[in-house]
Amino acid sequence: MPADFTFQQYQQELTDGRLTATVCGKCETYTTPPQAVCRNCGGTDTKITEIVKKGTIRTFTVIRVGPEGTQPPYIVALVETQDGPWVMGNLLVTDPGKIGPEIIGKEVEISSQVVKGDIYAIENLNVLTFSLV
Ligand SMILES: [Zn+2]
Repeated sequence: MPADFTFQQYQQELTDGRLTATVCGKCETYTTPPQAVCRNCGGTDTKITEIVKKGTIRTFTVIRVGPEGTQPPYIVALVETQDGPWVMGNLLVTDPGKIGPEIIGKEVEISSQVVKGDIYAIENLNVLTFSLV
């Protein structure tokens, strides 16, 4: 991975509509967000790439008491992307309080939205969001 690829660049890629990863030159495993070391084999021959913004819900939780500035209930889900790495983000649904285990295994499209910084995060950040297909 180019040593000069920064978290801010990852954030800009999300703003521009791309989900950036690294792909390992040795075992071809994708890792996102990009990391200098392969999550599978520990190899360091990694390159920046873009992965498909689709995946499958593997698990989730309903946040009923959220941090300052949030509007619970909302759903945080783990999604296995089509290219392999799992990502965490917010599942966008109209009535999060009524979501149950039936959503596990459902296909989603991955996007992102800006979340305003709070006392724990000094800047606004793009977080991943999932929409049921
Ligand atoms: Zn590897």
